[in-house]
Amino acid sequence: MKRITLKVGSGVLTENNAVAKQRMLNLVSFIVKLKEFYDVILVSSGAVSSGYTALKLDRKKHISKKVLAAVGQPILMSNYKALFDIYDVDTSQVLMTEEDFDSLAHIEIFRQIIDSQIEHEILPIVNENDITTISEQVFGDNDQLSAHVAHHSGSEILVILSDIDGYYDKNPNEHDDAVLFKLVTEIPPSELKKPDTSTHEFATGGIVTKLKAAQFMLDQGRDMFLCNGYDLTSAEEFLLQGRHNKGTLFSCSNS
Ligand code: ADP
Repeated sequence: MKRITLKVGSGVLTENNAVAKQRMLNLVSFIVKLKEFYDVILVSSGAVSSGYTALKLDRKKHISKKVLAAVGQPILMSNYKALFDIYDVDTSQVLMTEEDFDSLAHIEIFRQIIDSQIEHEILPIVNENDITTISEQVFGDNDQLSAHVAHHSGSEILVILSDIDGYYDKNPNEHDDAVLFKLVTEIPPSELKKPDTSTHEFATGGIVTKLKAAQFMLDQGRDMFLCNGYDLTSAEEFLLQGRHNKGTLFSCSNS
């Protein structure tokens, strides 16, 4: 079966300082449908925002953010477990750092772990391990982590589920006349140097880290699809019906 990596942002998973249970259920049932056609690897943000549901620490403070991630990761995973249990899907927690991709030996271990889980019908749920690590060891955002996961697991595409319909010619939250790019084959280097534009309190990176992830995928000759994670229609159309209505496809081929 073809493999895909799906990345979901914290904006999709939380609402008003609580886990957005309905959206999470929609995501889980979508993944269950996808699993009929693809081997799926999920990269999920949301540990810090889940931690904040239990403990109101100032996430801007370095150590508090780590404490929130430590508190939130099991909350996030228990929410996933409860929902995937409805469909009898076993899940695993895979916490990673940038260093886990820094040598062929590390990459081989990662590949074997993912292969073995998929072989045993376990859905890997990956997140960055930013709890005891220092900034040099982490990507700092799950967009770039997910691109590495997608490439090194041999996924044919990375799908990023965000709070927007795709990549626009300007920030759609600031410009009503922003136009969505349906297909992007090249990313101007200046776009990769822009500052963080994240919308939500708990999001990291904004569009820039998504473009960096896309650039990484393009460099590897792989595709990336950026679409809405609040409403999964475009993801479903693209992945299950082969229809590209909304959403941005980053691809080396012009088809
Ligand atoms: P997530 O939690 O899904 O990772 P982010 O808030 O980090 O979401 O990133 C998505 C945000 O990036 C959008 O809500 C949007 O405001 C912002 N953004 C800035 N420029 C653009 C652009 N050119 N196209 C799309 N989104 C953009």
